[in-house]
Amino acid sequence: MEIKEAELVVSAPSKAHWPESELPEIVLAGRSNVGKSSLINTLCGRKALAYVGNTPGKTRLLNFFDIDHRFMLVDVPGYGFANASKQMLIQFGEMMEDYFSSRSQLKGLVLLVDMRHAPTEDDIGMAEYARYYEIPFAVVATKMDKVPRSQQSRQIKLIAEALTCSQEVIIPFSAITKQGREELMEAIEALLDN
Ligand code: GDP
Repeated sequence: MEIKEAELVVSAPSKAHWPESELPEIVLAGRSNVGKSSLINTLCGRKALAYVGNTPGKTRLLNFFDIDHRFMLVDVPGYGFANASKQMLIQFGEMMEDYFSSRSQLKGLVLLVDMRHAPTEDDIGMAEYARYYEIPFAVVATKMDKVPRSQQSRQIKLIAEALTCSQEVIIPFSAITKQGREELMEAIEALLDN
């Protein structure tokens, strides 16, 4: 699948601003700085559709991107940044719970984790969240260009164990080399077909 047209429809501060569209939705989540904006830009073949290097935690918005009028990519604010206030954590939790529990066109979650590190408690929590709400998910291991080839399979195994998922659902990805782009598009297709 190639993406021809990608457009930011709305940055929604609350449920009232979620678009009324009935397109199926794929939500993208991960720690701040994991490479989510870079991945969105790589997927869509754009330089600055999503804002790379956004100040972590500053935005509490769900960004809805219309992809070829076929589906929406929903970009969730990065979690797990230092100095998050309790209030911000509560707001984030409420926003995600609202979205996961009530958005009927939600088809799947793409969870991004940094390939260099073991998943954090927050990453594990996000995978558990998806399981609780019975949302199918794929995992992307980002920044693979920073992990020597000899260590990649070990990192994939580590991530799979921490998230208690199969190694097969983990897609190694690099926004620099664009490796993994095709595989990710296929995984998104599979989630949309569910
Ligand atoms: P976000 O906070 O999750 O949206 O992450 P960004 O896309 O803003 O990326 C955070 C930082 O990681 C930026 O400095 C990016 O240039 C860098 N980055 C993102 N993806 C990759 C990647 O695949 N490889 C490398 N080497 N750096 C990346």
